[in-house]
Amino acid sequence: MERNLLGKTALVTGSTRGLGREIAENLAAAGCSIALNGFGTSTEIETCKSKIKSTHDVEVFYHGADLTIPSEIAELTTAVTRQLGPIDILINNAGMQFVSPLEDFPDDKWDAVIALNLSAAFHLTKAVLPGMRARKWGRIVNISSAHGLVASPFKAAYVASKHGLIGLTKVTALETARDGITCNALCPGFIHTDIIEGQIAEQSRATGIPRERVVEEIILAKHATREFVQADQVATFILLLCSTAGASTTGTAIPIDGGWTAS
Ligand code: NAD
Repeated sequence: MERNLLGKTALVTGSTRGLGREIAENLAAAGCSIALNGFGTSTEIETCKSKIKSTHDVEVFYHGADLTIPSEIAELTTAVTRQLGPIDILINNAGMQFVSPLEDFPDDKWDAVIALNLSAAFHLTKAVLPGMRARKWGRIVNISSAHGLVASPFKAAYVASKHGLIGLTKVTALETARDGITCNALCPGFIHTDIIEGQIAEQSRATGIPRERVVEEIILAKHATREFVQADQVATFILLLCSTAGASTTGTAIPIDGGWTAS
């Protein structure tokens, strides 16, 4: 792969597993120094760090900030800048789900989902913009969801946060358009990561429908393709947005959803 992002520093939130980890691997392959964030055991995090470092010969730094806490977000950006230099590429990827009918939706779960999926992106964007403006270059990618474009029942906080993230994306794009900065939202359909595995198990338990039928009849039924989206398909899109080919793409919400939101 072409190392066209050599010399850039990328912070990928929620990158200790799943989609975030795939995005971090791809940005490392393109030459970026990588700041990892998210939860996991020390062994998992060390393995992740050393694999990216040895495979791609780039600097890798990890910070375990809990992004629902604004003071930890400030510590994260300060530490990354100290260790790797100013943040050129911000991927707001960390996210969580909670499923419940509205009347029973616990207030603390609403607050936690909004804090992680939406407010953390606001705090991080605010923190990185001055440096990006000064250097006249920056890329911000917000990982929204097909649920940023359409709704499903029982996912009030997730759907609201992912729609809100697209609004934040548009405002960021407009305010930075003349400073060499782009901000876009990607809206994936279902990717087979731990967050989805949890939902499959939960649905199977709640409905008594076997796991395989939940995947076919509930999850993949949303996709016209009837196939999962692959994490590397989302990561590759990010490389395009970070390249010179992506310089005029800003303020968009791009579905990568197997045709889900086309109908
Ligand atoms: P995942 O649950 O596998 O990984 C989430 C990551 O976020 C982990 O690294 C976790 O440690 C980290 N994290 C969780 N809480 C955190 C906190 N408070 N502070 C910091 N980090 C925290 O999820 P995923 O499937 O890889 O999803 C990544 C993103 O993609 C999310 O925003 C999700 O909403 C979005 N998305 C996922 C799918 C899908 O089908 N998997 C579809 C559309 C959008």
